[in-house]
Amino acid sequence: MATTTLKYDETKNYIAGKPDANGQQRMDVHSPLDGSLISTVPLSTASDLDRAVKAAEAAFPAWSGMPIKERSQIFFRYRELLLKNREELAVLVHTENGKTMDESYAEVDKSVELTEFACSLPQLVQGELLEVSKGVECRIERKPLGVVASIAPFNFPNMVPHWTIPNALMLGNTMILKPSEIVPISAIRIAELLKEAALPDGVFNVVNGDRAIVEAICDHPGIKAVSFVGSTKVAKIVYVRATSTLKRAVCLGGAKNHLIVLPDAHVEMTASNVVASMSGCAGQRCMAAAQMVGVAGIDHIIQQMIIEAKKLIPGKNLGPVISKAAFERITGYIAEAEKAGAKILLDGRNPQVEGGAKDGYYLGPTIIDHVTTDMRIAQEEVFGPVISIVRAKDLDAAIAIENANPYGNAAAVFTQSGGQARQVMERASAGMIGVNIGVPVPREPFSFGGWNDSKFGTCDITGKSSIEFWTQMKKTTTKWNPEGKTNWMS
Ligand code: NAD
Repeated sequence: MATTTLKYDETKNYIAGKPDANGQQRMDVHSPLDGSLISTVPLSTASDLDRAVKAAEAAFPAWSGMPIKERSQIFFRYRELLLKNREELAVLVHTENGKTMDESYAEVDKSVELTEFACSLPQLVQGELLEVSKGVECRIERKPLGVVASIAPFNFPNMVPHWTIPNALMLGNTMILKPSEIVPISAIRIAELLKEAALPDGVFNVVNGDRAIVEAICDHPGIKAVSFVGSTKVAKIVYVRATSTLKRAVCLGGAKNHLIVLPDAHVEMTASNVVASMSGCAGQRCMAAAQMVGVAGIDHIIQQMIIEAKKLIPGKNLGPVISKAAFERITGYIAEAEKAGAKILLDGRNPQVEGGAKDGYYLGPTIIDHVTTDMRIAQEEVFGPVISIVRAKDLDAAIAIENANPYGNAAAVFTQSGGQARQVMERASAGMIGVNIGVPVPREPFSFGGWNDSKFGTCDITGKSSIEFWTQMKKTTTKWNPEGKTNWMS
């Protein structure tokens, strides 16, 4: 195909500090804003990955041997570059993912916060030392693992890579990033900015591709740890495959976040929070409100939600979903729920799009009431600007509905009663809980990660918990007084 029609250059891999393309098979990259072709992406092979692993292995001794305070100087510079290039990075996210410019700026801002946390790591990883018997000292130091890999989804092309890059690298690892093949453009710009910040060549590499390259990452003997963010189906596959070759793995999956709304909840705040949670990033967030569990007596709040949702205008303050296939999947769920007897209070299936874009994959906000837990829409991840409302007779019944869903990323409660909120905090089966907050993403230094089918592996992916994931502990015992008495352990 003629590359002259592309908005961006052909996307390349990035290996050993420079763009790298070996004439692989390529895939088209379209913008969900209008369906236009904006780039192409290589579907790399195991041999491309192998070259990247070799580059990362070659960079590892010098990088891991550099004092962490020196490594942090690179990330202080990198943070400044993120800020300097904030608008360009946000435009890339907007163009390849479709989210609004405000949402794209917020994504880049979160990447800045993640980088700031990484810059603070020298303050958090100083190790331990104790004289355990006369003249004998035990010390513990955190050491990097070696070459690690990070596999990303389509919905946060800039932020999700920053969940792993700054922490893993600051802790002395070298990395291969495998971006989503649907949104590969931001990752290359990240690689360029890291180089501009003076990151040594080979410390960070990007290998593009689809399933085949993910499988090659799981199998490659040179890779010591794999982090994955994506759907539950693939998270399970990657967790099993990566750990079967004895790698460390943390795999974050999909979600079905339940928001429990009690009749005493603050009406305006609850309605605007729930609607923002279901519709932000067109509902394509693993922290999005998917299901509202309304405890008897909340009709006035639902009415206010409809008023709030009508303020969302596709093409203005609501972006498109990622693809035609996603549009069809989401509208399929809505049609099936309607047929099964649910009541559609607000239908986004034929939206008026501001600016008149005809080929983008736009859906308006959709609110569906009287969904029952046996419906497919109540059980599966829809991943669009859609919320189902399930009715519950009391708080116990509402918590039982939340507990019965197999996911466990986030759950929230809206109420003015501390006692009822406390019940949900204690009993919801999810890793991240919100009280009067629809998107309870922990800010740094608190870590991000769900429970149940929303995460496989022991550590969280960000914050202090990620230190455990990206390092191993070296325990050293020393004795410098040969004249000292020998006891049972020395
Ligand atoms: P996805 O699972 O389709 O893809 C994720 C990555 O896996 C991509 O890089 C893709 O190339 C690769 N992949 C796809 N199919 C594969 C296969 N069969 N074998 C091996 N690799 C494969 O996910 P997506 O559609 O890009 O992203 C949306 C999903 O990600 C949603 O389910 C969302 O909830 C989830 N997500 C979760 C979190 C979280 O923190 N839990 C955060 C963001 C997104």
